[in-house]
Amino acid sequence: MTPIDIFSDAHLHSTYSDGTGTIEQMARAAIKKGLTTIAITDHMPLPFKTRYAMDKSRLQDYRNEIDKVRQQYCHKLNILTGLEIEYIPKIADWIEDIAAMGWDLLITSVHGLLVGDSHCMVNGNEKEFQNTLNHGFKGDIQALCRRYYQTLQTATSVHWFDITGHLDVIKKHNGGNRYFDETTPWYQALIEETLDVIKTHKIKMEINTAGLNHPVKVTYPSPWIITSAIKRDIPIVMGSDSHTPKTLGQYFDQTHDLIQ
Ligand SMILES: [Zn+2]
Ligand SMILES: [Zn+2]
Repeated sequence: MTPIDIFSDAHLHSTYSDGTGTIEQMARAAIKKGLTTIAITDHMPLPFKTRYAMDKSRLQDYRNEIDKVRQQYCHKLNILTGLEIEYIPKIADWIEDIAAMGWDLLITSVHGLLVGDSHCMVNGNEKEFQNTLNHGFKGDIQALCRRYYQTLQTATSVHWFDITGHLDVIKKHNGGNRYFDETTPWYQALIEETLDVIKTHKIKMEINTAGLNHPVKVTYPSPWIITSAIKRDIPIVMGSDSHTPKTLGQYFDQTHDLIQ
């Protein structure tokens, strides 16, 4: 198994998208926590309005500010310029243009699915998830999961990105198997298929520890999926998905011990 670096946090948000800390505050928090590398990965701009994406007009300032903070703290911390890409097949050209600007690290995630012209959230609050399930997919949880994982597989196959983000975030509100059972064959087949695509396209998989603070109280992905990824020798990186300086690197130690 390739060693997992628990002193690097590959997934952070700043005030450029929906985080509460400036890039400098995130860097200072990382140094305080003893991290050696962080990637600033704010939500990429989208061609429609959301409550979390960066405004496209701020993209260059974002890159410049990361450069400035990197130089300022280079003796203590390695800072990577990244983005969390929101993969939506219909806007692939828009995404490709942003990806082509040149980045140290790009995470690809699926947060929502386009149903007709509406962007239906998968990892928003539970009301939004229910709306996606009931109105976007007529209550068919299998159809929703299938579309989610197929979209993630497409995102993994385009070769613009380095890491698959919060792989099974679709389970965010699934505590107590409220919506589906992860041990059912149809769900496990979707996961195995997705891991095969990740392996084939040689991209890394993130262990996103923010899930431990979400209603489901489990990492993304679940431990059985991490085991399955390790068996395939898929490289793994740690991401706290921090939206505040307080949570950088959180649960990395415990999660690492668990995997060992
Ligand atoms: Zn995300
Ligand atoms: Zn994120």
